Amino acid sequence: MQIRSMRRAALIAPLLLLAGAAGARAQNHAPFTRADSLRGSIGPARAWWDVTFYDLHVRIDPADSTIRGWNGISYRATQPGRRMQIDLQMPLEADSVVMNGRKLAYTRDGNAFFVDLPAEQAAGAPGMLRFYYHGRPRVATNAPWDGGFVWTADSAGGRWIATAVQGLGASAWWPNKDTQVDEPDSQRIAITVPGPMMDVSNGRLRNTTKNRDGTTTYEWFVKDPINNYDVAVNAGTYAHFGDTYAGESGPLTLDFYPLAGNLEKARRQWQQVKPMLQCFERWFGPYPWYADGFKLVETPHLGMEHQSAIAYGNHYMNGYRGRDLSRTGLGLQWDFIIVHEAAHEWWGNNITSKDLADMWVHESFGNYAESLYTECQQGKEGGARYQIGTRASVQNDEPVIAPFGVNAEGSGDMYYKGGNMLHTIRQIIGDDEKWRGILRGLNSTFRHQTVTGQQVRDYISRQSGIDFGKVFQQYLETTMIPVLEYRAGAAGVQYRWANVVPGFDMPVRVMGGTSGELLRPTTEWQTAPAAVAAAANSAAGLRVDENFYVTAKKVGADAPRAPAAF
Ligand SMILES: [Zn+2]
Repeated sequence: MQIRSMRRAALIAPLLLLAGAAGARAQNHAPFTRADSLRGSIGPARAWWDVTFYDLHVRIDPADSTIRGWNGISYRATQPGRRMQIDLQMPLEADSVVMNGRKLAYTRDGNAFFVDLPAEQAAGAPGMLRFYYHGRPRVATNAPWDGGFVWTADSAGGRWIATAVQGLGASAWWPNKDTQVDEPDSQRIAITVPGPMMDVSNGRLRNTTKNRDGTTTYEWFVKDPINNYDVAVNAGTYAHFGDTYAGESGPLTLDFYPLAGNLEKARRQWQQVKPMLQCFERWFGPYPWYADGFKLVETPHLGMEHQSAIAYGNHYMNGYRGRDLSRTGLGLQWDFIIVHEAAHEWWGNNITSKDLADMWVHESFGNYAESLYTECQQGKEGGARYQIGTRASVQNDEPVIAPFGVNAEGSGDMYYKGGNMLHTIRQIIGDDEKWRGILRGLNSTFRHQTVTGQQVRDYISRQSGIDFGKVFQQYLETTMIPVLEYRAGAAGVQYRWANVVPGFDMPVRVMGGTSGELLRPTTEWQTAPAAVAAAANSAAGLRVDENFYVTAKKVGADAPRAPAAF
């Protein structure tokens, strides 16, 4: 999703005023609770089993905003174990947990249930239990950011229901192993709603069953691994049209579900899907879900990267709700929700971060994909201008990476700052075909997998042949933007990095001479070549290639400061 950053900024700013500068540097996280650790870490009741299949069946009753159902959880023991942690958030209630016709004993610890199986499971053994539950799920107060269930009506007065639970967690509406680490290999999603509503969930529609009580059950099936937070209900009065895209892996089915009253608008606006797919397949490799198809579904909230069923609520306008987040005008040339959310099919859904702390793997590449799409439309210079334009939204309030193991997210800078870090890395690699190969290689190497951010960092360094360790550390783990300091003195013009982590040695292009010169500064003073010195001594001063996300500063020759300590 997008613009949690702005939400966060709005929420956090008053806290910062109270806390002062020291608070600004500290992690803006409340003290972590036992519940955070149960959700965010792989404890002993999670570690021994691997989810293989979720068989989810939920009946939705809009009359009293309740749901009732069960999830069949199939698993394989990767090591011997007996106690299973299954997450289901309050105020939902468990009815029973059943294995082989036997009710199992369980205890509840807040949002986590600890279920005792009849016997210890042997390593390698498969198993299956059913978790029955019901209740009134948390209602979203500001979906998709403060998520949960959305119960609303469309402009024609028809009921309209949707779920959006990223961050909050899938266990806000269905019982599962609520961590990004473990995805099922496939999943059924059978949703029962009153007529005349239709439910559009993820994957492909296998069956539609008209029940005697006037409800209809829509049975969707996802053939590939899916993030639990991507599993979604979208129920309303939908129209449908379809198309086929001739993609890198063959024909890809496109299915579109606008509200019935918006069919003509959708037919126009959603034509942007094909050029988006063409651009992203070129840069990132084949769309990751040919088996499950591509869908856009209109939702009452702004949007979300629900796998193979992108939630769309951008009101058929270009930009982000009609605005351009880059302030260049280029962001008004395309529909932000189509481009950004679909980018997550590669970054977030195909490659999923194991820990919420590493959400930059989703959002930094999501933001960067926006500038690549602009590049596909407008050329390389336009893409760069878009990316650089988003820099104005960077807060540098706290690091992009949050504490691990406690279900915490880092700064909203994971979007614009992370995207600009990737744009900078592309400049340093200096070979667009190699860079494109790295982006595609990430998607093929980690296809349908969950990863640590470190794996992504290491892959980029290894494949480029350049050690980006310090660059990632600088931009993801600190709030400092590198400063290229330079000074003119008896020894000529000298330069070095300041405001950086120890050992920071990122190359940077400065605009001395005719085409720019690549400097290799460290935290020690070095003497500049003649063309750079001439530029530095000019009235305009030294100019850094703005594709590099750094600043430059002239300092006095006689009072050199030590580099900022980290
Ligand atoms: Zn996003």
